[in-house]
Amino acid sequence: MTGVGVELGSRPTQVPAGTAAADLLAIDLAEWRRRVETATAADVGRVIGAGRGRAADLPVLLSAAATARLEDLAAAAHRLTVLRFGRAVRLFAPLYLSNECVSVCTYCGFSAGNEIARRTLTVDEAVAEAQALVERGFRHVLLVAGEHARIISKGYLEEVVRALAPLVPQLSVEVQVWDEATYRRLVAAGCDGLIVYQETYDDDTYADVHRLGKKRNALWRLAAPDRGAAAGMRRLGIGALLGLHGDWRAEALAVAAHAEALTRRWWRCEVQVSLPRLRPAAGGYEPADPVDDRSLTQLVCALRLCLPDAGISLSTREPAALRDALVPLGVTTLSAGSHTEPGGYAGESDAEPQFEISDDRSPAEVAAALRSLGYDPVWKDWQR
Ligand code: SF4
Repeated sequence: MTGVGVELGSRPTQVPAGTAAADLLAIDLAEWRRRVETATAADVGRVIGAGRGRAADLPVLLSAAATARLEDLAAAAHRLTVLRFGRAVRLFAPLYLSNECVSVCTYCGFSAGNEIARRTLTVDEAVAEAQALVERGFRHVLLVAGEHARIISKGYLEEVVRALAPLVPQLSVEVQVWDEATYRRLVAAGCDGLIVYQETYDDDTYADVHRLGKKRNALWRLAAPDRGAAAGMRRLGIGALLGLHGDWRAEALAVAAHAEALTRRWWRCEVQVSLPRLRPAAGGYEPADPVDDRSLTQLVCALRLCLPDAGISLSTREPAALRDALVPLGVTTLSAGSHTEPGGYAGESDAEPQFEISDDRSPAEVAAALRSLGYDPVWKDWQR
C-alpha cells in the first residue's frame, strides 16, 4: 500500500504515526515480493535450518525453491507449532447479527446491490443464538455484521455485547470499523477481540472491489486494529481474502508484515492471522486468483515459521480433510459448525448466508477429529 490515492469520505486519509499501520506503510513490500523470485535453495535451507524466522523471511519460504522443500518446511512448521502452542486448537463460532449492508463490495453476498433476504437479530434473538452455541460447547463467539451504521449501530453492538458477555467469556467482533472511543465502549461492555480483515493490501484492487460505502477508506480500515488495541482489545485478528488480488503471495507478505508490526507495537495483545480463500457468493462472484491446496499448505507452514507467536485461523470455508491436515502444520484456531446467515443456530433462518461453507461437520465432530489427531479441542482459554 502506498498510503495515497485511496478514498476519502469523512475519515482521515492517512494513518497516525506510531501505529502498526504506519510501520507497515514504511516497508518496501514490492522489494519483499521481488525476493520471492530470487530466493535460492541456500536461502531456504538457512531459514528452515534456523527453525524459525521473521516476517522478512517469508519471501524466501514462498519461493519456488521452498516449494521444492515442502516436506522439510512442513516438518519445521510442525516442530515449532508444538513447541510454541502445544497440541491444542481453539474452537470458536461466528454469530451473524445482521446481513444488512450499505456498502458495495464485489466479492460479498451481503453487498448492498444484491437482492437477498435480509435480517437483523434483536438483542433477544442474539442471546438465543449465543445460548444455542453455548449448548454446542462454544465459549468463544465472534459477532459478525455487515456495514449499516444506523441498523447495526454502536449502541446496538454495545447492547448485544453486554447481553452476551455473561454467557460467553470470549467475545470478538468483526463488524464495520469504528473509532477508538467506540471500541472502548465495546471493551467496557465485555468484548475482548477485534477482527479486521484488510481484504486486500493492494491499493488498486482495494479501490476496484470496494465500490461504495465507508469501507472504501482503506487507511481508516488499516489502522483499525491499532485503534482497537489502544482501546483495550486483548486479541487482534487480521487477514486478506486470497483470490481477490491477482498475486496471493504479495497479499501474504503484507499480512505477515502487518502482523509482525502489530505484535511489536501492541505486545500485550495476541495477534492472529487468517488467510481465507474466497468462495463463490451471492451476486455471482467467482474468485479471480484461486489458491490451490498445495500453495495454501506451503503458506501455512511459511507463516508459522515467520510468525512464531501468531495464531493462525482457518475457517469452515476450507474442506474438512484439508483443515485436519493443516492443524499439525501451524493452525491454532478453527471455526466449527458455522452458519453465515443471521439466526442460523437457534432455528431455521431464511436470511441469505455470506458465503458457502465447505466443512459442514458439527462442532462435536470437529472436536472428535482433533482428538483423533492427538490434539485437544479448547473451547475456553480465558475468562474476564
Ligand atoms: S464485505 Fe462487509 S462491507 Fe462489504 S458488502 Fe460484505 S458485509 Fe458489506
